[in-house]
Amino acid sequence: MISAPVYAPARSDRSLPAVRVNLYSDTQTRPSAGMKDAMMRAEVGDEQSGDDPTVDALCDRMAALTGKAAAMFLPSGTMCNQISILVHCRPGDEILAHESSHIVANEGGGPGALAGAVVLGLRGARGMFDTATMRGALREKRRNAPPQTLVAVEQTANAGGGSVWPLDLLTDVLSSAHEVGLRTHMDGARLMNAVVAAGVTAREMAEHCDSVWLDFTKGLGAPLGAVLCGSEAFIDEAWRWKQRLGGSLRQAGICAAACLYALDHNVDRLAADHANALALARGLRQVPELAVEDPETNLVFFDTRGSGLTADALAERVRREGVLVSTVGAYRVRACTHLDVDAAGVALAAQVISRAVGEAGV
Ligand SMILES: *Cc1c(COP(=O)(O)O)cnc(C)c1O
Repeated sequence: MISAPVYAPARSDRSLPAVRVNLYSDTQTRPSAGMKDAMMRAEVGDEQSGDDPTVDALCDRMAALTGKAAAMFLPSGTMCNQISILVHCRPGDEILAHESSHIVANEGGGPGALAGAVVLGLRGARGMFDTATMRGALREKRRNAPPQTLVAVEQTANAGGGSVWPLDLLTDVLSSAHEVGLRTHMDGARLMNAVVAAGVTAREMAEHCDSVWLDFTKGLGAPLGAVLCGSEAFIDEAWRWKQRLGGSLRQAGICAAACLYALDHNVDRLAADHANALALARGLRQVPELAVEDPETNLVFFDTRGSGLTADALAERVRREGVLVSTVGAYRVRACTHLDVDAAGVALAAQVISRAVGEAGV
């Protein structure tokens, strides 16, 4: 008997109508004409040898933005997280991170498979935890306890609701971690969403982080690329892992040019995505069967339990009307705004979702 593939990739089903509003993820944005033009004009060289001027320019800019001494270009955010863990941790070490974080749920067990590290999942509302929770998770230094070496935070916290760690909480948690001898890491996949939403600079947010990275393939709209930042010594060690994992690149300036373009053109406009997320949440609140979480940035989560529909069933119904959303858990739906979705698209999506719930009719 042939069973369904366990590692099924997402596939487009051609029997379905064309997508009208894609709220599935901010990873699905397409490079704009201006971005492609910047890519075409990029000066390039061999990145692995340090000869790509566009990659160098991007790394310099990111180091300055985050207030770190050095930076490194990588193909993906997952590789930034995994390389950071490989540098910070030895096999058997324990990482403290929120139980819903990307390194726990979405990286294929990478910390265990690659660094041999275990993750202790901390609890807390909206994907965040406070200093008391972190301190409560610290183990006595005993021979039979795993050495705890790293605290990781996500800014914004994706599964937490696209929520923004307030600067005082972030500073308190991370500086307390340093006080007890832990290193600190920030998964900044959507760091610029947090910066724009909170009006706090990336440098301030990253001040107490030993490593921090930004993804260019989320709301910033680039086709690939992430930049990992830290001290000279950290990036030096990270280069060894980049090489070992096959993350060293060649004429990567073509992609780095897209990232530079994104920093120039696609950061301030994240405010529009946040406004669209608020509008979507307002629209969905008109549907009493749905429990809508308060969006802080570009992610809108809602619970379908009151409608009698599972998250998958609702996603399937709206897909037939050309609206894409993603599901996380049995009853939780995520709708994500980004640069390829406008206010009209969000209004249409709210209507389609509302109708789908109405037709379920409980
Ligand atoms: C998307 C994401 C990642 C991984 O980034 P990729 O570039 O897709 O590998 C890591 N952390 C968070 C919070 C994310 O949303």
